[in-house]
Amino acid sequence: MVTGTQLMEKVLFKIAKQWIAGNSIDDALASAKDAYQSGRHAIINKLGEYHTSKRQISSTTDEYQKIINSFRRWKVRGAISIKPTQIGLSISQKECYRNFEKIIQKARNAHVFVWLDMESTEHTDETIEIYNAYFTKYERLGIALQANLKRTENDLNDLLQIGAKIRLVKGAYKEKANISFKSKEDVDKNYIKLMRMLFKNGNEFAIASHDVKIIKKAENLSKKYPKKFEFQMLKGIREELKSKLIKKKFVISDYIPYGVNWLPYSVRRIKERKRNILLLGSSLIQSQRV
Ligand SMILES: Cc1cc2nc3c(=O)[nH]c(=O)nc-3n(C[C@H](O)[C@H](O)[C@H](O)COP(=O)(O)OP(=O)(O)OC[C@H]3O[C@@H](n4cnc5c(N)ncnc54)[C@H](O)[C@@H]3O)c2cc1C
Repeated sequence: MVTGTQLMEKVLFKIAKQWIAGNSIDDALASAKDAYQSGRHAIINKLGEYHTSKRQISSTTDEYQKIINSFRRWKVRGAISIKPTQIGLSISQKECYRNFEKIIQKARNAHVFVWLDMESTEHTDETIEIYNAYFTKYERLGIALQANLKRTENDLNDLLQIGAKIRLVKGAYKEKANISFKSKEDVDKNYIKLMRMLFKNGNEFAIASHDVKIIKKAENLSKKYPKKFEFQMLKGIREELKSKLIKKKFVISDYIPYGVNWLPYSVRRIKERKRNILLLGSSLIQSQRV
């Protein structure tokens, strides 16, 4: 007999499949190839975070290296995106640097771009430190900054001084009110302010959002400040808009997560949009009918 939890997980997985490539590296690469054939670049991320098991950290480090080595064989223009706590930051900085070093060495040999995802604020300083330490050694390295944090304007100013490559996101983690903007209105206002800073003083940056208002503003800013930048969106979201932007000659990257650890990622996506919650509700009802 199927229990309530099993049923819920089954339904969630059905919904999650629109956002994730599948369980394996080959699923991720196949999805990256699809994206590439639709004129997009691909950024592959292995799902999972806050790893404390050495075995899990070591296998994640190995998988990122395998992906880097596979792009050429799969004829894909791809990058990877890593969460520092996947490769050891939850154990120690030393462990994280040791693993990041291995990944960067492979990326350097294969000329593959590496992004550092930004996690919750307990790791912001450490993630920026990792970026600073490695950007001097490897230029094809980018870092995500979150517009929902009050500190980000300062971080962006500092990082722009060294020519850092920034991915600007709204921020996916719940943070305390004294350090973060809480309303959508305030987050959006700060996003636009930071985006202007990028267009004026940055180069090679990414506007990572599905928000049509933000994207329209970026399109307008790009006319005034012609800079090398790209739009990044998550796999399975805003597919039509992606095609329209490609027709307008903008560069689009699909962020493609894969792996068995799909639940927290999918729950974040469901919470992001009312319609996704409705979709979950209706799928549950349908699955009980059959
Ligand atoms: C490429 C990429 C990388 C990211 N990396 C990080 C990171 O390193 N650290 C981090 O904290 N966060 C990261 N995020 C997540 C980000 O912080 C936001 O949580 C997420 O992008 C939702 O914000 P939004 O800009 O799309 O705007 P929102 O205001 O959340 O959404 C605007 C509109 O976009 C559409 N939309 C948004 N989400 C969905 C969805 N799930 N399904 C369908 N439609 C949707 C809806 O129409 C919504 O009204 C990343 C996002 C992207 C696209």
